[in-house]
Amino acid sequence: MMDKCSSCGAETPRSTTGVTHAYLDASPGCWARYGEVLAREYSNAQYFAVHAITVDAYAIQHPGTEGPQTINSVNLHLASLYGYYQNHVEIGQLSQFKSDLTKRKEQFRWLPPPQDLGSITINNIWQADTAEQHCELVLQWGEIVFNCWREYHSYIKEICS
Ligand SMILES: [Zn+2]
Repeated sequence: MMDKCSSCGAETPRSTTGVTHAYLDASPGCWARYGEVLAREYSNAQYFAVHAITVDAYAIQHPGTEGPQTINSVNLHLASLYGYYQNHVEIGQLSQFKSDLTKRKEQFRWLPPPQDLGSITINNIWQADTAEQHCELVLQWGEIVFNCWREYHSYIKEICS
């Protein structure tokens, strides 16, 4: 039995745990694959090199519906990708970048997600054979998902400036 994630479209074996995230809209199978990818990153420094981008890309590819937590999540993870792809912030600095931004969270607003959330999913990342391939795919994934949200790029730039 396969399941299809309603956010990213990834097809995965049906999860037996049924566990998913509290507010990100991911199917249990997609969420389980994400967990496996995170486990690889936590256990290998070469995979961990792109960890912040993995977290940001996954969050904005599974934005969920309007609420206080999802507003914060989408704004912060989109801002982080803006920082990396358009504002020369290094991956290692992104968590500080996000933490500084939370001071401005009263400016955050809900961004209705785009229809298209990108052609690369957690399945592509999960299938990577080497750390090099993993990092390359994650960086492509982040850029593709960030560009799906292009109508909000000027808003995000303003929030970050
Ligand atoms: Zn998904």
